[in-house]
Amino acid sequence: METAWLLPDLADETAAGFWAACAEGRLVVQTCGDCGARRMPPRPMCPHCRSTAVVWEESSGRGRIWSFIVAHPPLLPAFAAEAPYNAVIVELEEDPAIRLVGNLVATADGAIGEVDPATITIGEPVEVVFHRIDDVSLPRWTRRAD
Ligand code: ZN
Repeated sequence: METAWLLPDLADETAAGFWAACAEGRLVVQTCGDCGARRMPPRPMCPHCRSTAVVWEESSGRGRIWSFIVAHPPLLPAFAAEAPYNAVIVELEEDPAIRLVGNLVATADGAIGEVDPATITIGEPVEVVFHRIDDVSLPRWTRRAD
């Protein structure tokens, strides 16, 4: 069944490596094949050295909540039914300058509004999980103990 959610374009060559890894349950970060600088979101050229060489570096999938919001209507219809829900920005453990946007959930396939927003704190340790929607594996975040 097709979802009404907004999903990434898997045919986009620049980000294809990211989404292919997600489909395998791995979180990767685009890294310059020449100078080694990491970048997110994926881009065709390194902003530091202008190289187009790309390496997909495996991430630990661990990070901390850098910021978050709680979404309330008005929202797109597919998302209004889920509200209120959180959207978190996570900084990765191996490089806090690399930040990803997602939802904090209790379980990989849980509803995006299942975590009580009042319990979310900046700096909270999280780890990635993947949730399949149509042909996309979306990275999401769950709490971790340490
Ligand atoms: Zn570079």
